[in-house]
Amino acid sequence: MKFNTKAIHGGLKEIDPAYGSVMPPIYQTTTYSQSTPGGHKGFEYSRSANPTRDALERAIASIENGNHGMAFGSGLAAIDAVLKLLKSGDEVISTNDLYGGTYRLFTSIFEDFGIKFKFIGMENAEKIDEYVTDKTKLIWVETPTNPMMNIIDIKKAAAVAKKHNVLLAVDNTFATAYLQRPLDLGADIVMHSATKYLGGHSDVVMGTLAVKDKELADKLYFIQNASGAIAGPQDCFLVLRGLKTLHVRMQRHCENGKQVAEYLSNHPKIENVYWPGLKNHPNHDIAKKQMDGFGGMISFTTKGNNYEEAIKIVENLNIFTLAESLGGVESLAGHPASMTHASIPKAEREKTGVVDSLIRLSVGIEDGDDLVADLKQAIG
Ligand SMILES: *Cc1c(COP(=O)(O)O)cnc(C)c1O
Repeated sequence: MKFNTKAIHGGLKEIDPAYGSVMPPIYQTTTYSQSTPGGHKGFEYSRSANPTRDALERAIASIENGNHGMAFGSGLAAIDAVLKLLKSGDEVISTNDLYGGTYRLFTSIFEDFGIKFKFIGMENAEKIDEYVTDKTKLIWVETPTNPMMNIIDIKKAAAVAKKHNVLLAVDNTFATAYLQRPLDLGADIVMHSATKYLGGHSDVVMGTLAVKDKELADKLYFIQNASGAIAGPQDCFLVLRGLKTLHVRMQRHCENGKQVAEYLSNHPKIENVYWPGLKNHPNHDIAKKQMDGFGGMISFTTKGNNYEEAIKIVENLNIFTLAESLGGVESLAGHPASMTHASIPKAEREKTGVVDSLIRLSVGIEDGDDLVADLKQAIG
């Protein structure tokens, strides 16, 4: 099955046997009747498993070309589950230009449990090798990175992980499975904030994992059930519905992303435009190799790097809504230094390029000309 078919039918092997409903019903239930102790139909308690969540988890595995999927209450809950594969004393090598909440989870929660993190630039993925010790258990890659849109070569990162027998996990939130399938490139775990493109309509907070390996899946299912940060059935239904249009939405995100990135690149007041589809993007070649398109996430800075001017631009936008988050059908704009990345110390964030004038756009699927006109009036 090709991707566009999987987005609609993937994992949904049987139509509801009771009434033939085309969409999996929302099983809003905590428990399931048993004919005799242990005599159930595969479901006994909805933390352990729920039929609506089960349908979504199969769909997630399908679009990522994995064998097992898991849905959690948020993207961070999914990352939290991955980190719980580790023990005190273990080391993680992570991308340095990282979603702020992931950085906070690693440094403010898991460091206190004795896990050590090394945050490094990974644009040259062979270099990861230099940081591996006998304590390293996990390599955490985010690509494209948030918000600098750096691209990390997943195949090369996987080669390092395989060589040292450590796990490679990829945060695939920005690209989605439509544009990039990390498991096919050698990653062990692919993670999503389904809050973003998978849900796609800015109405659900959720996280997912997908893996190929059964033994690894069993460990993660154990953690999912034992820690309990599961996604609810109503939210699973909404993300299942979102997945059915993922491919058409992503096509339009890519088209509009291109139009906006090209407009900004030619604007006299704009200093840098970070979008992996631009030929002058430092990792354009890797992006071309491992992605099927360049997506709708764009960051840019203004000449003079003025904090107040950047604030003014995001306030002046009309169609782009000033808001955190990304990946919905509507366009959003954010100012990372004061919003999503406010939890990262200034010196730390500036090292990775999150300067005062940086603006991040989540380009939606409205008319591309309208989006450009909105930017034009806001930037001046
Ligand atoms: C939003 C986001 C997360 C966290 O997901 P939540 O659903 O907000 O918990 C992790 N990684 C990336 C790249 C994100 O954009």
